[in-house]
Amino acid sequence: MERVKCLIAGSGPAGYTAAIYAARANLKPVIYSGMELGGQLTTTTVIENFPGFPEGIDGTLLVENMKSQAERLGVEIRIGSITKCDFSERPFRLQIDNSAEIEADTVIVATGASAKFLGIPGEQKFRGSGVSACATCDGFFYRKRDVAVIGGGDTACGDALYLSSMCNKVHLVVRRDVMRASKVMQERVMSRDNIEVHWLTQPEEILGDENGVTGLKVLDKKSGESNIIPVWGIFEAVGHHPNSEVFSPWLKMDENGYIITENGSPKTNIEGVFAAGDVADVHYKQAITAAAAGCKAAIEADRYLQTL
Ligand code: NAP
Repeated sequence: MERVKCLIAGSGPAGYTAAIYAARANLKPVIYSGMELGGQLTTTTVIENFPGFPEGIDGTLLVENMKSQAERLGVEIRIGSITKCDFSERPFRLQIDNSAEIEADTVIVATGASAKFLGIPGEQKFRGSGVSACATCDGFFYRKRDVAVIGGGDTACGDALYLSSMCNKVHLVVRRDVMRASKVMQERVMSRDNIEVHWLTQPEEILGDENGVTGLKVLDKKSGESNIIPVWGIFEAVGHHPNSEVFSPWLKMDENGYIITENGSPKTNIEGVFAAGDVADVHYKQAITAAAAGCKAAIEADRYLQTL
């Protein structure tokens, strides 16, 4: 069976940064990319808060640059996902895509998080024909149409701004009377003429016909009445859940599935297994904090290997 010194699961900023550091420490890291190659950055538009890019940088380009940097340093990047693992003894054993097994002396879990959906009626039926969680992937299909974005975080604001440049009108549906997005994003949303914010509004049902979505039924919490917002596309931006399930038999997690690490370090409850990025981050969830966590994980993996 193949055995590697350092196996990294995930190909977002945490995984690539861990790989860059591990490669420079001569750990010959192997990355398994996971289902979403490049992670969440590939679903965003311009990133303005990653230091080093005065004009901002496209999210996909940023993560592609990380990949190129890792490859130049000799990191092996393989397409595949961890489908099972056994951390009961060293070397650790991991199964890839329900078939091949591999042994690893250290594992860095950087599997990130995936978009949540609301679970309201109509949502499943119209996923792919009007309901999406990725404005940059699907926005193009709704050019000159009216669309809705659900959520009040940075993702929702970013999606609304992105869509407002190609759609006729964007309805931003926010369940409270405040948004949790950063102030700068909120200000941009408020100053865009074709974005209408629906405060205190809870989505209830996605309506449609054989051609796809026709509207979003919402509860206006101020009046207590239900209304229909006529739209062709609905973009959900209601947060993310950590991609940690496959590790749940072994790693300690909180009630929402975030991997618990030791006070600010990437160490998990299993010596030699580290967690970095959004899969272990309840609070910050930024590209830069994920990259920093990946760096720490690789340094700790190297230190751990020196003790063996
Ligand atoms: P988020 O901050 O968790 O926001 C999720 C939004 O969805 C909240 O407004 C929440 O409302 C709403 N929501 C959740 N469940 C809902 C439901 N059942 N019905 C209606 N609304 C619901 O998620 P995010 O926007 O994806 O951001 C995640 C992290 O990534 C944040 O730390 C953010 O700063 C970061 N991020 C950064 C950037 C950037 O810096 N460029 C871009 C995108 C994301 P409540 O507020 O009422 O809970």
